[in-house]
Amino acid sequence: MNTPIPYRTRFAPSPTGLLHIGHAYAALFAAKMARENGGDFVLRIEDIDTGRCRPAFEAAIYEDLAWLGLEWQSPVRRQSEHLADYQAALDKLDGLGLLYPCFCTRKDILAEIETANGAPHLAATGPDGPLYPGTCRNLSTDERAKRIADGTPFALRLNMGLAQKSGPQLHWMDGVKGKILATPEIFGDVILARKDTPTSYHLAVTVDDHIQNIALITRGTDLFMATHIHRLLQSLLDLNTPHYHHHGLITDADGQRLAKRNKARTLRTIRKSTTHAPRSFAELKTLYTGLS
Ligand code: GLU
Repeated sequence: MNTPIPYRTRFAPSPTGLLHIGHAYAALFAAKMARENGGDFVLRIEDIDTGRCRPAFEAAIYEDLAWLGLEWQSPVRRQSEHLADYQAALDKLDGLGLLYPCFCTRKDILAEIETANGAPHLAATGPDGPLYPGTCRNLSTDERAKRIADGTPFALRLNMGLAQKSGPQLHWMDGVKGKILATPEIFGDVILARKDTPTSYHLAVTVDDHIQNIALITRGTDLFMATHIHRLLQSLLDLNTPHYHHHGLITDADGQRLAKRNKARTLRTIRKSTTHAPRSFAELKTLYTGLS
């Protein structure tokens, strides 16, 4: 196992659009935590969703971050170039008997939930909505082989019951909330490789954070719940367990998320409105609200 570098932090945007003020806060926060604690700051481009990612947005990320005065270590890790790392993790989980192919469409899942519960609102629900009802978990080996041979697209799901069966009780340390008990079962059988992408957000970030030797993961509270899954994957795959700091999301005086209030208000828009590059988040926020 690698020894994490104390306070190596990361910013991990997806190049599916231009960065907004919420991204700026997250990036500046991660870099500040590294700087104030003698660590370093790395960047990762989360571009596994090839349908939505664009090279122009990636180029804009570098420009906007440089405008904010940020510097990051080279090389930048681009997820689309590391599919073999995610495949190795899937192979390991498969070797442990923890994965199964799921052929269900969204429609199949909803229909199954309705049949099983009488009404969708009675279904067991997790942080991301109704839990997968387990339709494909018990398919026979022959049935699986037949559907794969037929060319039916499939995702790979984690058999959560088995994955948790004999494992130790897991925790993580959160900079805001302290010691958190991991309860990944609240998500049910999560998808670890999608039908259209040979990995998933959860698998890719967990593997990457280990490979990039990240010691402190800083990210918004919107990703707090995902850490329950990441902690389990770390344990199953024998990966490092970093510390976490889930920071609040940027809101205006009315408590509304700034990034949501005005989707068009990107860092690029703010940048074009001024000749002055902000040297702190407070300065950036002043520029931002000056535009409102
Ligand atoms: N790529 C994710 C996002 O843009 C962040 C992933 C993470 O910080 O774990 O929201």
